[in-house]
Amino acid sequence: MGSITLKKVTKNFDEVNVIKPLDLEIKDGEFIVFVGPSGCGKSTLLRMIAGLEDTTSGNIEIDGQDATHTPPAKRGLAMVFQSYALYPHMSVRNNIAFPLKRAKVSPAEIESKIANAAKILNLTDYLDRKPGQLSGGQRQRVAIGRAIVRQPSAFLFDEPLSNLDASLRVNMRLEISELHKSLATTMIYVTHDQVEAMTMADRIAVFNGGIIEQVGTPLELYQHPVNKFVAGFIGSPK
Ligand code: ADP
Ligand code: MG
Repeated sequence: MGSITLKKVTKNFDEVNVIKPLDLEIKDGEFIVFVGPSGCGKSTLLRMIAGLEDTTSGNIEIDGQDATHTPPAKRGLAMVFQSYALYPHMSVRNNIAFPLKRAKVSPAEIESKIANAAKILNLTDYLDRKPGQLSGGQRQRVAIGRAIVRQPSAFLFDEPLSNLDASLRVNMRLEISELHKSLATTMIYVTHDQVEAMTMADRIAVFNGGIIEQVGTPLELYQHPVNKFVAGFIGSPK
């Protein structure tokens, strides 16, 4: 479970159209990267998929069901933000537990889910710390942990690594790719970083001014860019 289909979705902010009619089929289990310059609508579309922005027209289907007007909490998706969005006064354990407590999951089940996520993310020794006592990479792992325990049908990442320094970013890229392999859950990953897109994606959607110029595997885009914009953005010699 975790296929997402966009059918002619658009978005206007007041009178300004920022997403043009856009179609996209995201397959269950795939790692798709939205890439493109700043301001081209990547975050807006991700937030529409999450239900954090309403859709001006068109439809969003999740696992074949219309979810265009479904509230965010009922979409079964988990968003991971660049800013981590952790609660500074809460321990790592309570930050991860927060969505589960709200969903009235039993304490025993919460404990086992936290232990499992902490193991996957190498956070076992840090569960009693506060976010302020963690490195940037560890904070990002806590944010991912909070998403994992909800067992979403898809993870939505919005530039999750852009606050990290270069060497840490490379590590976290690998960790997120490993996580994708082990969970086999759909991931939509927004970035303006071509290297991130080329190294992490099963498929890349290249955005430009509210449209998708091309969708394909990194190799397809590199070898057969449909236009100069895609070629330039992907770094293809053509
Ligand atoms: P990206 O994530 O690709 O950098 P965004 O989706 O954030 O781009 O923004 C796309 C366009 O929509 C930009 O022109 C931006 O200024 C505009 N925009 C985004 N959010 C809002 C908002 N809440 N109100 C008005 N305009 C917005
Ligand atoms: Mg953005």
